[in-house]
Amino acid sequence: MKLEDVWMLLPGRRVGFGTIEVVGDTITAVKLAENRESKDAGRLVIPGLVNCHCHAPMTLLRGVGGGLPLKRWLEEAIFPKEAKLTDEDVHAGALWGAMEMLAGGTTCVADMYEWNYQHAFLEAGMRARVTTVGRLGAPGRLAECVSATREWNEWMCDEVRGDVYMDLCIHSEYLTDEHFCRELAAANEDLGRRLHVHVSETKREHEECIARHGKTPIAYLADTGILDHGGYAAHCVWCTDDDFKIMAERDVSLVHNPTSNMKLGSGFARIVRAMELGVNVALGTDGTASNDNLDMFEEMHLASLIHKGLANDPTVLSPWDVIEMATKNGAKALGMGDIGEIAVGKKADFCVVDMDKLHLIPAFDIPNLVVHSMHSSDVVMTVVGGETVYEAALGENAFDGCPVTRADAKAALLASATRLLSC
Ligand SMILES: [Zn+2]
Repeated sequence: MKLEDVWMLLPGRRVGFGTIEVVGDTITAVKLAENRESKDAGRLVIPGLVNCHCHAPMTLLRGVGGGLPLKRWLEEAIFPKEAKLTDEDVHAGALWGAMEMLAGGTTCVADMYEWNYQHAFLEAGMRARVTTVGRLGAPGRLAECVSATREWNEWMCDEVRGDVYMDLCIHSEYLTDEHFCRELAAANEDLGRRLHVHVSETKREHEECIARHGKTPIAYLADTGILDHGGYAAHCVWCTDDDFKIMAERDVSLVHNPTSNMKLGSGFARIVRAMELGVNVALGTDGTASNDNLDMFEEMHLASLIHKGLANDPTVLSPWDVIEMATKNGAKALGMGDIGEIAVGKKADFCVVDMDKLHLIPAFDIPNLVVHSMHSSDVVMTVVGGETVYEAALGENAFDGCPVTRADAKAALLASATRLLSC
């Protein structure tokens, strides 16, 4: 594969114009031309976006329970419907979510849900770190979860099938107990996987944890040993400076989900302070029931704006700070050093944006446009590991490499969603 005459976002916070060459799954050359004007930019290549906190099967429940606060939203709107889900439902939701992400330039996702649904990401041709531990921390399910994780990861390693591996997770401190956390930590001494977890999403959750354990959620989780292999913690809205220090020490990244936190009225994560204290900050969409889309461009836009507004300071978070949160910081959060940048030797994961749009001209400052003007619908092609997994111009066949057509994926999604909403 060779992309010629393209603009590109490059490591070192540089914008370049030239050619990208790919052999197999790897970028083998980045050749730059000199002294170009970008104002009528044409095509822009962006490193594949990394969505570090998602529940892709929740596309089935897009928008369900709108207007409720987190606890009531989970207990009244979401959990009763999730109790009715079948394996087919979860697969249909995950595949549709993967398609939505690929069409919006996201090439890698950290996805947490209750069932074994990793195949959906393999079919779509997406990279994924999937976690399916029981959120209730039922003791009987620990052994099942650990063996499923080990078996799946060994099967993935056996031959080149794609890049979908299982990490470990607990849903949150409040939906499990200390015994389960310690058992999972012990099992992970051998597995060595990173932990995906919801942390301090709401004030109430944060304070109830302190009342229960005398510690914040992060301090509590750290003491159980469950963070010993690092991880990625979604939300962290109410984390303290001491929490951020623990996260920096333990290689736990903060996954910022601005849309979800605002829609559920949870608050604003202090990501600027976290960065000052050495925490790696990545971005996520959360699930579509609390977002209600999987659009990482929207997350970049909001992350950039809300912290400027909160700080009363437009210099807070440069466009490059935000672009890195959605690309290389996300790769770091997931322990994936070979993605997240357009550079020789890195995996060929990127999206191509058509800059010939009313809202993208003139393109004097491309990083600023990426964060503040661009939409996921501007993506015309997405490449994962050198394979074109989405091409807008093909219309109904845009996901040509996927064994399930877009039409069949939609029919399955609608059938499942219809049944669930009638429950
Ligand atoms: Zn979540």
